[in-house]
Amino acid sequence: MDYQKILNTIYEELSHIDLQGEVASYIPELAKVDPRKFGMHLYVGKGEHFCFGDSTEKFSIQSISKVFTLTIAMQLLGENVWERVDVEPSGDPFNSLTQLEYENGIPRNPFINAGALVICDILVSNYEDPKKELLSFVRKITQDENINYDHKIAASEKSTGFRNIALVNYMKALGNIKNDVEPIVDFYFHQCSLAMSCEELAKAFMIYANNGKMLETGEKILSRTKTKRINALMQTCGFYDEAGEFSFEVGLPGKSGVGGGIVAIHPDQYSVAVWNPILNQKGNSELGMAALEKLTTMTGLSIF
Ligand code: GLU
Repeated sequence: MDYQKILNTIYEELSHIDLQGEVASYIPELAKVDPRKFGMHLYVGKGEHFCFGDSTEKFSIQSISKVFTLTIAMQLLGENVWERVDVEPSGDPFNSLTQLEYENGIPRNPFINAGALVICDILVSNYEDPKKELLSFVRKITQDENINYDHKIAASEKSTGFRNIALVNYMKALGNIKNDVEPIVDFYFHQCSLAMSCEELAKAFMIYANNGKMLETGEKILSRTKTKRINALMQTCGFYDEAGEFSFEVGLPGKSGVGGGIVAIHPDQYSVAVWNPILNQKGNSELGMAALEKLTTMTGLSIF
């Protein structure tokens, strides 16, 4: 398969199309990102990789970080994680409060904000310094010591993050939050601010494409069962209330973030990350989805 040729075609066909959406602005710092940025990076087995455009430029990974924190929580608690958070698609916007009321504070899944905040609570309970743990996990799976938080983005989100603070308070009132609100949201705003490039994200996500094993060292990070569960959640819940559409168009497990990044994997085949900051109405990168649709069509490699 000539992956580079396929990526070049995707770039040629998509880099000049008109987009309808807008860059996320509810986190003020994100509104400053150049909307023309467009990059894609694909890793296959044995460390071969292919790319185009701004694929080595770092951006705010936002909700993509929820896959990393879930992975750590599953390593810590195993199946007990599911006592605190469910595994069903929500069909509601990612920051919705409504389902929590009639579902007694148990979030639908770990990739909506409420669920990710419960996962933060688990990490805060288990680690003295969860920010340091998350960083060392991400640095390990990318083999890159330079990955870091963007403190400006974290502070920017904190200044407007009232809904997330409300979600934690609400779940605390309903008994599903154990720690104080402040360290949980501080950790959450930092995890969302992680700055990574498409290249780094595609490399990190190879553990999910590779049965839980690191590409370079072969070290087992996750069991086969946990990898299967995380991939299933990415498939059913990774794209806000557009998970069905993403499955329909692209056909891969993946996760998006409001920074405009999307990462997707094909078990045993590849891991791919794409970035353009313009989001559609559901909060997913418009160009990113189009690029991934072309990738699975041209390679014939979706999971369906
Ligand atoms: N930090 C963002 C928020 O909580 C993450 C949203 C996202 O990327 O889906 O609103």
